[in-house]
Amino acid sequence: MNNVSHIPSYLSAEHLGPWETYLVQIDRVEPHLAAELRPLAPILTRPKRALIVNVPIRLDNGEIAHFEGYRVQHNLARGPGKGGIRYHPDVTLAEVMALSAWMTVKNAVVNVPFGGAKGGIRVDPKVLSMPELERLTRRYASEINILLGQDKDIPAPDINTNEQVMAWIMDTFSMNEGKTAMGVVTGKPVSLGGSLGRKDATGRGVFVATVEAARRMSLDIAGARVAVQGFGNVGEAAARLFADAGAKVVALQDGSGSIRNPGGLDVRAAKAWRQHNGSLIGAPGSEPIAPEAFWGIDADVMVAAAMENQITAANAGLIRARLLTEGANGPTTPEADLILQDNGVTVIPDVLANAGGVTVSYFEWVQDISAFFWTEDEINARLDRIMREAFAAVWDAATAKGVPLRTAAFVLGCERVLQAHAQRGLYP
Ligand code: NAD
Repeated sequence: MNNVSHIPSYLSAEHLGPWETYLVQIDRVEPHLAAELRPLAPILTRPKRALIVNVPIRLDNGEIAHFEGYRVQHNLARGPGKGGIRYHPDVTLAEVMALSAWMTVKNAVVNVPFGGAKGGIRVDPKVLSMPELERLTRRYASEINILLGQDKDIPAPDINTNEQVMAWIMDTFSMNEGKTAMGVVTGKPVSLGGSLGRKDATGRGVFVATVEAARRMSLDIAGARVAVQGFGNVGEAAARLFADAGAKVVALQDGSGSIRNPGGLDVRAAKAWRQHNGSLIGAPGSEPIAPEAFWGIDADVMVAAAMENQITAANAGLIRARLLTEGANGPTTPEADLILQDNGVTVIPDVLANAGGVTVSYFEWVQDISAFFWTEDEINARLDRIMREAFAAVWDAATAKGVPLRTAAFVLGCERVLQAHAQRGLYP
């Protein structure tokens, strides 16, 4: 069905690039698609369009530096493109293509009316001054301007981009259009049309999805032992919500180290300690553990909320938890996925588990275009409902088809996208 045949057989799934990994996922999903939609499936195996742009900027020292940027719209069948913008030295077209495709699936899984898109610049933003970063952002925004618009393509923050970068993109687009266009990006400052509740949204979605799974597995979250990898935007919020719900956060791991307390860590104290000391190590009531001991910790729930490719064939077999929730994008390699499946570990896949962020981005866009803003309680209640409904749809599909949650989520998302194509018909 798709183009995976060009992947050399000597490449193990551990060494696939992100786009090939996505193609493998589509390949695994294809046999489960409704028969009438299968002929349309090749649409998913390439982007609708991809734009490569040169981004020259004048550095503070007067020299000119050139960077390569991308904006990929993987699929627009269900609505405008939606997906973040990443600034990182490792950004490639293939990576942005994969991330845009996962956005297509994710947006369809939570049934928000968006297609999938993603953008990025191959740059190390940490070596740029603020004025250089602003010039980089404004030139990039101008170069991809032809794709953007509240009804065309709506960027958001991703790695190394934040609400300030979104404010610059909104302003650049608005200047080019001759009007203030708040709905063209999400993840903006609240004072510029950003949404309340956005900061915790992804962690909150991770928590809600986990609670929904646990309930169906007769696992009580109150008293459950939870270990969280990644203690940033996603992991910290998730850990805090688990602790507030009575779970024992028995281990935390971030780039600075790993800590545990079988009786439960104080998540807020750990955050304050890390803020003051730059490391989790030494947090009150914790003992340090070796990073490689993290995945084998005695826990009921593991949350992977750091980065991609963390759970591999080398460590998947160590996991003793019943449930693994993917807060990060792509934390489990395809090989590790099969090991977890064999060992009976239920995996809540990224395209479902971390969709809380894009869901509140959708709320931000709705609030911007209606110029009517909601309370944080309203936002959280709507987020919880969307996550619960999406979880139920994926769980029920997995049960009905006898497949893992990842396959079920991909089938659900891909079928919604292909259904939209089928209903719209083939142009011309
Ligand atoms: P972040 O930068 O705020 O936090 C990342 C955390 O991971 C940090 O605590 C860092 O120390 C830790 N970390 C990095 N490398 C590590 C390693 N090798 N081992 C252990 N810990 C490590 O990022 P974030 O916004 O929390 O995003 C985390 C993941 O969630 C990413 O994969 C991101 O794409 C995904 N995600 C984020 C959002 C969002 O709204 N922020 C939405 C969807 C998906």
